[in-house]
Amino acid sequence: MSTGTEQQIDMVVVGAGFAGLYMIYRARQRGLSVRCFEMGEGVGGTWYWNRYPGARVDIECVEYSYSFSRELEQEWDWSERYAGQPEIERYANHVADRFDLRRDIRFKTRVTEAVFDEISQRWRVCTDSGETLLARFCIMATGLISAPIEPRFEGLEGFAGEQYLTSRWPADEPNFEGKRVAVIGTGSSGIQVISEVAQRVGELFVLQRTPSYPIPLRNKPVEAGHARKMKAQYEELRRRQFNSFSGFTLVHSDLAPPPSQSALEVSEAERLAEYENRWASGGLSPYYAFTDSLLDMESNRTLAEFARQKIRERVDDPAIAKRLCPDYPILTRRLSPETNYLEVFNQSNVHLIDLHDEGIRHFTQNGIVVGEREIALDAVIFATGFDVMTGAMDRIDIRGRAGESLKTRWREELTSHLGMMTHGFPNLFWVNGPHSPFYNPILLAEFQCDFIADLIADLSDRREDVIEAKAEEERLYVQLTNDIGNSTLYPESDNYYMGDNIPGKPRATLFWFGGFPFYRKQCRLAREDWKGFEVG
Ligand code: NAP
Repeated sequence: MSTGTEQQIDMVVVGAGFAGLYMIYRARQRGLSVRCFEMGEGVGGTWYWNRYPGARVDIECVEYSYSFSRELEQEWDWSERYAGQPEIERYANHVADRFDLRRDIRFKTRVTEAVFDEISQRWRVCTDSGETLLARFCIMATGLISAPIEPRFEGLEGFAGEQYLTSRWPADEPNFEGKRVAVIGTGSSGIQVISEVAQRVGELFVLQRTPSYPIPLRNKPVEAGHARKMKAQYEELRRRQFNSFSGFTLVHSDLAPPPSQSALEVSEAERLAEYENRWASGGLSPYYAFTDSLLDMESNRTLAEFARQKIRERVDDPAIAKRLCPDYPILTRRLSPETNYLEVFNQSNVHLIDLHDEGIRHFTQNGIVVGEREIALDAVIFATGFDVMTGAMDRIDIRGRAGESLKTRWREELTSHLGMMTHGFPNLFWVNGPHSPFYNPILLAEFQCDFIADLIADLSDRREDVIEAKAEEERLYVQLTNDIGNSTLYPESDNYYMGDNIPGKPRATLFWFGGFPFYRKQCRLAREDWKGFEVG
């Protein structure tokens, strides 16, 4: 507990990523005093921390950007359809400056605990700089994929080479020229960093436990004509995003209708033609070809086999191609849009080490031991993933009524109402957190921050102080979230959507997989007559 002075404030926001920035903006518009704490030295969240070579968005920027300001949409120019990390970080900085958000942000400050005081009905929020605030509302904008898993390997502390974590990349770019480098992890981060550093290293060792489904991004510069066309269409684009399942809708960078057919309703020739068309478009759009790719195993198999065939076509050595082909249902782990990833395995200085044959035993001073073999290394890059959804909030000691710890609660069972709040933790909300929809995260942040701001305004109109999820309504939301998850193919593979990448994490659907329109409906119903909430 801090000994610092205790300042009273309407709202504390934790995190100055895209969600936190927008929450500050919206709270101020509602006349609330707000203080945001951010661990990093700058804004951008994910796009501040993940500055590894090759870090790039895989949703087109015109879709992966704020929609709340028509002026912002019109004045900002993206240089590429899928911008790299530096450009997205610049965009976050532009937004922070343009809307004068920085003055409410304390950088290089970590929130260590947030405790609800039942007498004052305020959250006592403490930071590692010794500051303590008493806040009426506490908003966790801590990110969905933001808490890195610390690499834990026997002997790592004695390894004399360089060590890097993709999500904590140093500002001074490491020089890998001529060096022997290993990358551990072949999710989206691993795939991006491998594609990039393979061009700079002496020898590269890719340590793969589970292959991803790589799909070509087909990034391009944005020509002036295209930018003009997109800006003229923004209103229609946003409307379509808002009414779509996942919030990314472009195919061949153009407005496309949503899928309407099962993959099994069309002939094989039609199906393949559709997959080829989406494939040629690039990005995540193969996902949108048919309605049931994530619902029906046979439908899924047609897409998975299509993607595996593409791997075999791009990798020269059939034995290596075989090891790069995933065997689990496609889309049940995140697709990995990439640029020339598979082609690096045609380079003679790139070596695929399949950890299914022989696992990592330990590190030595000079390298890593896999099976019986020691691989000498100058550097190792860990792209080993995140404690998704719950991890960032778990790292703060959050205590609600009667001192109940949220982390302890969630170790037993993941509870939430509308993926934004939970019973027993009044006036605490999160954005882009557990049980939130699998949806474009920037647009979701806007929706959830608006929802929270509207609830707070209603609360004030009613002259009430505290709002809390109703236990029974929460139980129904959790049940629905799990039922929806269980009706999809997600439980059919080991994946972070179900919490499988963290030993001991209870297996549960961490995301709302029912699509954004159905989610919005739940939010609307909860607000009708305040049926979802208790107030006091
Ligand atoms: P990830 O998808 O969870 O991948 C982590 C990788 O590390 C997996 O291949 C995992 O293998 C491996 N791994 C973990 N522990 C290991 C160990 N002890 N030994 C060997 N291998 C180990 O994490 P990520 O690549 O950072 O991506 C996370 C998410 O961030 C993505 O799914 C995506 O949503 C987002 N992201 C997006 C972009 C983009 O927009 N382009 C880029 C990067 C990340 P197993 O699978 O076998 O556990």
